[in-house]
Amino acid sequence: MTLPMPPSLWAATAPAAPSTTPLAGDARTGVAVVGGGFTGLSTALHLAEAGVPVTLLEAQEIGWGASGRNNGQVIPTLSRIDPDGIVAAVAKDHGGREKGEQLVGLIRDSAAFTFDLIRRHGIEAEAVQNGWIQPAHRASRLKLSAARAEQWGRRGAPVRMYSREEMAALTGTDHWHGGWGNPTGGRINPLGLARGMAAAAIRTGAVVHTGSPVRGIRKAPGGWALDTPGGALTAERVVIATQAYTGDFWPGLKRTVVPVRSYQMATSVLSDNIRKTILPEGHALSDTRGDLYFYRFDANGRLVTGGGLIVPFGWDSRIRARITERIRRVFPQIGDVRFDYSWWGYIAATADKMPHVYDLAPGVLTWTGCNGRGVALATALGRELALASNGTPLRDIAAPVETRLRTITGHAFRSLGIAWNVAKARQLDARD
Ligand SMILES: Cc1cc2nc3c(=O)[nH]c(=O)nc-3n(C[C@H](O)[C@H](O)[C@H](O)COP(=O)(O)OP(=O)(O)OC[C@H]3O[C@@H](n4cnc5c(N)ncnc54)[C@H](O)[C@@H]3O)c2cc1C
Repeated sequence: MTLPMPPSLWAATAPAAPSTTPLAGDARTGVAVVGGGFTGLSTALHLAEAGVPVTLLEAQEIGWGASGRNNGQVIPTLSRIDPDGIVAAVAKDHGGREKGEQLVGLIRDSAAFTFDLIRRHGIEAEAVQNGWIQPAHRASRLKLSAARAEQWGRRGAPVRMYSREEMAALTGTDHWHGGWGNPTGGRINPLGLARGMAAAAIRTGAVVHTGSPVRGIRKAPGGWALDTPGGALTAERVVIATQAYTGDFWPGLKRTVVPVRSYQMATSVLSDNIRKTILPEGHALSDTRGDLYFYRFDANGRLVTGGGLIVPFGWDSRIRARITERIRRVFPQIGDVRFDYSWWGYIAATADKMPHVYDLAPGVLTWTGCNGRGVALATALGRELALASNGTPLRDIAAPVETRLRTITGHAFRSLGIAWNVAKARQLDARD
């Protein structure tokens, strides 16, 4: 049974999905893609553009996972690791700095790439490329902002620092102490993007089946067979794009990530007078906290924000109370806060906060580890997975490829780990 899209701002406002049906009967294709989020859709779209026969199987509906539920901030960075750290981590595991620099280059260009893709395919996704900013929540964090701006700037990203006054003008509050930003970032309606990518992929020649959960993947003559309730799809190659929503169909893959809930909410439409005083230039904002403060507007003037909770019980009333207090403190001009929508989704967290691309078996690729910052990254990595599935040697794609799964020790106790991490992040946020 297909699960309906959970209610959210995006479910209420995104253009309709293209018409799709479940896989019915057995079929054959060149590349089978499992998962209809940004990764799978970008992979399918790029393969179709290259003229490769491709069929995407989505268990529920397009964008049902994180891709249709996120905050829609298009950000050309990882969430926790900066360029020097990325290069060092990749060099440690793969030798040499070149591969790490390639991955940094992919991330640096990922927001521009995503907006270009939206324009190229005429996707209706409320796309606004007015920049992404990361204000510092304590004066002591300005050192971190400066290091980030320096490391990205050294690699050609058009980043800049903002003084306290400049940041106050960009945000409409003196809550933050200055910070940095990247003008190639911005915001989108994420479900609109997912549905638009699906429509573009179908127009270009990809086959997309929804309501088609892959229950198992087995070796078959000439490649792999993917079993779904409606039939089996045989393919020469497979790309698994199930991220935090990964089930048990590939041994161990699910244990490479901890699915962490991120709660999202959208206010009622703000009056023009108030709207003009908050993020007046239309930026997307996520600050330096571990328990992140993040804000953006949608096309109708709702402030879209959210947060994390230590435990999920009674989440709706608890997150509403928590975020109401937070918004009033950060943007006191807002007055009464009313939320029209609240929802949540799973982020795929890895132990080292890095994304990992895996060569699972001959012809089977995947990546996991969006760590909460995957709108642009998943779209860009989708292109790399498409290249690798169409003959580009794995060593030549713009990300290191591993063969051994990095499964997380103590994965069975993940809910304790999540509670501990959120509590710890709040503690660290309060310190210099
Ligand atoms: C609440 C929230 C807020 C976020 N905010 C931001 C943000 O503002 N900016 C940002 O950059 N990133 C953000 N992220 C992260 C970003 O949304 C993800 O990194 C990105 O969407 C991952 O895309 P994906 O395609 O890899 O995975 P997903 O979008 O999760 O897609 C996986 C898909 O696989 C399908 N699937 C699972 N199992 C099977 C199966 N057996 N057969 C077939 N299909 C299957 C699922 O139904 C799902 O649709 C946020 C994430 C969440 C959850």
